[in-house]
Amino acid sequence: MTPHFKIAIVGAGFAGLGMAIRLKAQGETSFVVLEKAGRVGGTWRDNTYPGAACDVQSHLYWFSFDAQPNWSRIYPLQPEILANIDAMVARHDLLPNIRLNAELGSAAWDERDSVWRLQLRDGRMLEANIVITAWGQLNRPSIPDFSGVANFAGAWFHSAQWNHAVQLQGKRVASIGNGPSAAQFIPEIAEVAGHLTVFQRSPNYIVPRQDRAYTEEELAQFATGPARAESRELYYQEHEGWFPAFYPGTERAAEFEALARAHLEEQVADPVLRERLWPRYPLGCKRLIISDDFLPAMARPNVTLVTEHIECIEEKGVRTKDGMLHDVDVIVYGTGFDTLQFLGAGDITGRGGRSLRQAWHAAPRAYLGMNIAGFPNLFMLYGPNTNLGHNSILLMLECQFEYILQAVNAIDQHDGRPLDVRSDALATFNRRLQNDLQATAWAGSCISWYKTADNLITNNWSGSVEDYRARTSQLDLNDYEFVEAPPQTARAG
Ligand code: NAP
Repeated sequence: MTPHFKIAIVGAGFAGLGMAIRLKAQGETSFVVLEKAGRVGGTWRDNTYPGAACDVQSHLYWFSFDAQPNWSRIYPLQPEILANIDAMVARHDLLPNIRLNAELGSAAWDERDSVWRLQLRDGRMLEANIVITAWGQLNRPSIPDFSGVANFAGAWFHSAQWNHAVQLQGKRVASIGNGPSAAQFIPEIAEVAGHLTVFQRSPNYIVPRQDRAYTEEELAQFATGPARAESRELYYQEHEGWFPAFYPGTERAAEFEALARAHLEEQVADPVLRERLWPRYPLGCKRLIISDDFLPAMARPNVTLVTEHIECIEEKGVRTKDGMLHDVDVIVYGTGFDTLQFLGAGDITGRGGRSLRQAWHAAPRAYLGMNIAGFPNLFMLYGPNTNLGHNSILLMLECQFEYILQAVNAIDQHDGRPLDVRSDALATFNRRLQNDLQATAWAGSCISWYKTADNLITNNWSGSVEDYRARTSQLDLNDYEFVEAPPQTARAG
């Protein structure tokens, strides 16, 4: 017999685990969490590169509905986050609901039986009335297709697939990329490598981090009194206050630009290097980097900044378009992720046999980032246009959890009839969203993982967290339809 669940969640990172906790708290028992890997943790399991940390303060980087960890420092490091995720899974006794090494191959909506039929990559089948995808936006490493890679004599790997067996001590290392991930591992590599060459395609705005470990006294206060909740609230308000900076020409944008410029002037003495590290696109167009050690690392004598574009990879290293060969022993690709498809690994087929790939042939779009017309009872967490540039993504996930719980209740109250978003509601939502996004810095002239080559912003939400919370606080059934049961004759066939 094919195992049947009311709800299947795909992915056991923060999104899938948080959803599972909220379902359980509501008394749901028939749910399963499918996880492709051999352990939970999502991005915090995958990214083990040296220096991996969160750029949101730890007090804000946790679910409001869960016991708050007693974080050891202002900005949490990856091992501490992953350990806290494990503790959260244990605290909520989620393991019985999680299937590890269970990668989704396909999910097809069966219109006759109103059920999703899921097939795992290893051939196992299961069915669920409701599917909630939680496969993230940043987990399919993107490695540029430079010619000659096969001839490279040294080791190479992507930042999200760090090969810890490769020793970097004394080696000549290349970092291709200088984004948020690279900005964290570059200072660590520079510390141990003989030489580090950083290949920069675009510079970034860097603002101060001011990280430190909490003192024993602070930790004691956080563990018992209201201090941690107050700290969380302060960080929340501070980050919400950043949002106007994402509109070019505002006072807030000018303040952040001045902050980034002062940081650069303070940390890089060489005026020529400084200008090579200074961006010339609107602040916020690419993700702001929050770092106190990236710029000093770039100024080290054993670090070279290369801004010539890469021509190819050769046996001995990286050749740039000016003809120069940069000899290296190891290449680290800090080149980001394939972020524009939102499709996960599986093939999703909705009503009338239409695939999600077809539905999204122009671009991914989802009502409130969660629902796609023609895909009943399918909900996405951290779907299209729900990423932020200014605040903790966990806050957006919490809005989505509560919204989906309302939808699950609505389905229950309508005798389990499947819920599908109306295509006109999706179209109206998306038109307004894209219109609002045009005024933001993300629409500016830069390359970023937030948008397609045609400048269509597919990843970012157009407002603040408060805006999204207001927009998702109440499920409006007028924007949905309950799918009619198919006629009996069709059932008989
Ligand atoms: P990313 O922001 O996409 O940066 C990729 C880097 O590789 C950029 O410097 C990019 O240059 C460069 N690159 C890509 N293709 C290239 C090519 N063909 N030739 C030369 N350079 C190339 O990726 P990421 O640094 O992994 O960060 C992704 C996201 O992960 C972040 O924006 C953030 O949301 C998240 N993240 C978060 C944290 C955290 O603290 N919470 C830490 C790390 C990452 P261009 O700039 O010119 O495109």
